[in-house]
Amino acid sequence: SARAIEQLCEWDPAYQWLTGTAVVNAHTLSDFRVKHEQALKELFVQILALLSADGLIALERVMQDGTKIRASAASDSFRKKERIEQGIKQAKEQVAAVDEMAEEETSRRSAKARQRAQRERKERLEAALKEFEELAAEGDHKGKEERRVSTSDPQARVMKQPGGGFAPSYNVQLNTDAANGVVVAVEVVQAGNDFEQLTAGIDRVKQNLGESPDQVVADGGYVSRDNIVEMKSRGVEFIGPQCDEQGKGKSSYEGRGVSPAYYSSQFVYDAASDSFRCPQGKILAYEGKEQHNTQVSYRYRAQRSDCQGCPVKSQCCLGNRVTGRSIHRSEELAEVAEFRHQMQSEQAREIYRQRAQVAETPNLWIKAKFGLRQFSVRGLSKVRMEALWACLTYNICVWMRLRWRQSAAVA
Ligand code: SF4
Repeated sequence: SARAIEQLCEWDPAYQWLTGTAVVNAHTLSDFRVKHEQALKELFVQILALLSADGLIALERVMQDGTKIRASAASDSFRKKERIEQGIKQAKEQVAAVDEMAEEETSRRSAKARQRAQRERKERLEAALKEFEELAAEGDHKGKEERRVSTSDPQARVMKQPGGGFAPSYNVQLNTDAANGVVVAVEVVQAGNDFEQLTAGIDRVKQNLGESPDQVVADGGYVSRDNIVEMKSRGVEFIGPQCDEQGKGKSSYEGRGVSPAYYSSQFVYDAASDSFRCPQGKILAYEGKEQHNTQVSYRYRAQRSDCQGCPVKSQCCLGNRVTGRSIHRSEELAEVAEFRHQMQSEQAREIYRQRAQVAETPNLWIKAKFGLRQFSVRGLSKVRMEALWACLTYNICVWMRLRWRQSAAVA
């Protein structure tokens, strides 16, 4: 923390050497840590340029990974919109009361501190109220009534934790060059999932180093048809695990009480009539086409009268009261077929096996060595700065280690 550094500057010779024994104030350090965003980003890119010039970045293979870091907010700081509106009303009254008291107050210092505390509380609550609009824009699946925002850090989001459970967090996205483990791009996002982060990660690498990597390796959280197609169009080879379509479908069927004997794989397709035949011999005729981004699927449906009178309806489509059973046939895109085929090769699997060590090393380092398991600042722009400082420090440590190795080898 800034307070700990302030104390170290008073007695630790290393810190005294750095500061030239000048007095360092904790508030100045705190402000410095989250200000100068542009200068810090430029410094990060300059260090990458030096590492690249030293031949320590290859951009042949880049691993992308996301890690959840706890926000500086308690789980019970989340409130519904009405509670926050009430809080703002109370805070306004308190600000007015404190202003009035301050005029008669003899101790100017304590009056000013009280004024500042009340104003900050009001500002935090107003920021929390604004965040409800952001949540709606993000497509938060919860209904308007159920949405909650943290009054401590309104921009934090409740995310699933790697060890289980949920907590207010941010999602830190890192792109790591496989040649020497240098972090070549970093970003903090509010999305809990990684699907939408792959393209943006490649953009950041290109922005920082002037070119995209030849290959990107990421875990199953990034594997989607859209990402496979997008990487193909950019000429970036994508290595990731195969999508487990059957596994996803299975959990959906189980949730709807469908027996395995009536999963869509048990329905027989007839290309000549473009229809399916169900296990009871009834026809599901073509009904329409659906498109979600790059995914095209064709919908087939049985006659309502066939299903309503069917003896096995409870095992096949229990919830269908007004329509017959439907199933979808998806068109496999050439890019997806190629991806699946490639990921069956031993070479691709071997590359994927390297992912965990390369991608997760900076994550672990930042959390275990730098202690960044929880952000010490609040708000997206400030936590971005904290993550960037950690990655910059990590890269400098990697650089020192590699240079030391080079010198030792020459000696
Ligand atoms: S419920 Fe309908 S689709 Fe399912 S087995 Fe019976 S007739 Fe076929």
